[in-house]
Amino acid sequence: MPCARGVNVFVHRFTNWSNFARLMGYDSNFLMIRHVLEKLSSSRPARKLAVVVLCSVFTAQLLLLLPLMWVKYHQAVDAQIEQERSSLQSIIQHSPPETFLNPQGLINSALVGLVVTDAAGNPVITQGELPEFEDLTQNSNNSGSNRSGSIDVLWFLQSDKGRVLAAARINTAPIYQSSMEFTITLVLASLLISVVAALVTLWGTNRSYITPVAQLTDKLRDSRENSQGRVPDKIEYAETEDLNGLAEEYNNLIEAQQRAARQVKVKQQYLEFAAHHDPLTHLPNRLMFEDKLKRTVATAVENDEPFVVFLVDLDNFKFFNDQYGHLVGDKMVAEIGNRLQSMMHDIDMVARLDGDEFVVIQRNIQDRTAAEEIARRVMNIATAPYEYRGFTLKAAVSVGISCFPKDVHGDQDEEMMGEEIVNNAAVALQEAKSNGKNQYQLFNEKMRSRLTARIRLEQDLKLALQENQFEVYYQPKIDIQTRQVTGAEALVRWKHPTDGFISPEVFVPVAEEAGMIIELGEWILRTACRETRKLQQLGFSNLNIAVNISTVQFTDGNLLPMVSKALKDTMLPPKFLELEITESAVMHDPEEVINSLHELSRFGLGLAIDDFGTGYSSLAYLKRFPVHTLKIDRAFITDISSDSDDVAIVEAVLGLGKHFNMKVVAEGVEDEDQLKFLSTQGCDIAQGYFISRPMPVAVYLAWLRKWPHGMYTPNADNVDKADNGDDKVSVLKFGT
Ligand code: C2E
Ligand code: CA
Ligand code: CA
Repeated sequence: MPCARGVNVFVHRFTNWSNFARLMGYDSNFLMIRHVLEKLSSSRPARKLAVVVLCSVFTAQLLLLLPLMWVKYHQAVDAQIEQERSSLQSIIQHSPPETFLNPQGLINSALVGLVVTDAAGNPVITQGELPEFEDLTQNSNNSGSNRSGSIDVLWFLQSDKGRVLAAARINTAPIYQSSMEFTITLVLASLLISVVAALVTLWGTNRSYITPVAQLTDKLRDSRENSQGRVPDKIEYAETEDLNGLAEEYNNLIEAQQRAARQVKVKQQYLEFAAHHDPLTHLPNRLMFEDKLKRTVATAVENDEPFVVFLVDLDNFKFFNDQYGHLVGDKMVAEIGNRLQSMMHDIDMVARLDGDEFVVIQRNIQDRTAAEEIARRVMNIATAPYEYRGFTLKAAVSVGISCFPKDVHGDQDEEMMGEEIVNNAAVALQEAKSNGKNQYQLFNEKMRSRLTARIRLEQDLKLALQENQFEVYYQPKIDIQTRQVTGAEALVRWKHPTDGFISPEVFVPVAEEAGMIIELGEWILRTACRETRKLQQLGFSNLNIAVNISTVQFTDGNLLPMVSKALKDTMLPPKFLELEITESAVMHDPEEVINSLHELSRFGLGLAIDDFGTGYSSLAYLKRFPVHTLKIDRAFITDISSDSDDVAIVEAVLGLGKHFNMKVVAEGVEDEDQLKFLSTQGCDIAQGYFISRPMPVAVYLAWLRKWPHGMYTPNADNVDKADNGDDKVSVLKFGT
């Protein structure tokens, strides 16, 4: 069995490997190969590829080898036949007949049968097996029937006795067997080659693809596992160029994810920032301030450390908003926020609480002076002029200061302490506002009661407006030369239900701050106009009326329409109405005021600058104001007989009035000497207790009827109860 032998050889060689397998630590070759294959065939595509390579290489080899072997086998058989033929030919040709007849010499292992017939067809030699030819004469060529293991052939041979026909049986079994053996070896070899090719394929794919992919996968897995929920890091990879593309793609993906993550982070940071910061100034907001305060109190308590809270509030912010619009108001708040921020290297925190209110925290302030120093710096920073679209805005701030631990009760929890210190700063701020703004105040206990009283006053004022607890009093003014009554100043009086008369000097500023002065001022104006008109109709036809206009009303923007409507409704001609505007109000923003004053003047109203001499009027502006009257403040009149400075001031104001063609009113004239002095100085008009105290309209009417003969004596009911002066009879002296 040639095939079995080939297999045997292979198996034999294979079993020799088992030593090698054992050497490698495997129990058998099979296990070793399986392991190697397992290692190699780690991926399905690689495995498939290896099988395809195995099959195709093997098939290709078979397709090439088998026909070749077939041809080779036949060539070997043909060569054997030819060899037997030529050796028989030479024997027959040259051998003597005896040799010819010796069959022993002709048969060998290759030529196993032979029949030679002469030309007549008689067999001359018959040896070995008989070839199977039915008719030897018919088959004259040397082809023969082919049987397993042998082949029968016919030859025509030349001998000395002429042509003979030889039928021979050639043994082909050895050729076949060696061909078979060779073929099997070749097939096994090609199988081996195919297997090797498959393995090489597996190895190659593994090396160039599977392993790098596995490594890449490992790296990706590692980078993911190490990322702990974050976007994984990029991987470093340089195993093969093919996979660099893959790694690059992965890295690009990671980069995109990182970018997205960064954007998310930025967004989160922004949201976080927005939650804790004010959008206008970008300063920390109330939420963040409260958090900071909590921590500051905690550290302060723990380490026994002082700290200070400053509440900073813009003065007259409403005025800016109304005058320039909310956009400018916002810009101003942002600007002040910016400036406060620039102090950040010196302070611990600045935050915007709301509107125009900021708060500053500073730790480790050793004494009051240091706190005041910071307050002054805050004020300086805020008051520096601010240019915006051609406007030069000048803000001012008030600052309320409260110190820890001095201003805080120690017998409460930290949260309450935080609340108290801020409340106290607010109380101090209120104090600064009530005291005229543009200043700082350090908290003290007295402020609190003042504030409480003030809050009560505000509530009472509201009620007073609803219940009409106000009255307008009239204080006459006379022409000093002719002693004729020119008119009166309307002065508001409030009779509080329980506290009695409250001075306008106390409640007007509160009404101004609470915004109630608009409503109250309108009521005063309408009342004064109506009652004056009535007095005119009663015969005092040239009677003027001067009405005080608060700064708040003046800057409200609605003054002219309000006044014109009041005049129209009461039918008082504009020329009889004079508006008294304080010097400080006019000087607040002169350029802007000039416009308003011109409008009012064009309308036919009289305009007076009240309390003249107390503010800082610029003469340059005074020239441009369409003002008809200057009212010398009563403070200068009071001491006129004793204070030479006051004399100088009064003389100067009179000189100014003459120069600018304005009438000068001296208010607060309390005695005859003052009046005489004013008279000699050429002052136009006088007003004061010496002439009359302010009085209700009915008393005013009675007074007017008696004037200028001074016959009118006010009784207990008709004197000005708001003034507690005791020279009630001054009018009697005058003119007698
Ligand atoms: P003012 O405009 O300077 O008013 C003159 C003040 O001097 C009045 O005080 C008046 O009673 C007082 N007075 C008049 N003659 C004499 C005098 O001979 N001696 C003294 N010592 N005082 C005299 P009043 O009524 O208490 O008003 C105080 C301030 O309150 C006013 O000062 C004015 O600024 C404000 N005010 C009063 N009424 C009104 C009002 O109707 N509207 C507004 N916006 N403010 C008003
Ligand atoms: Ca006045
Ligand atoms: Ca005055």
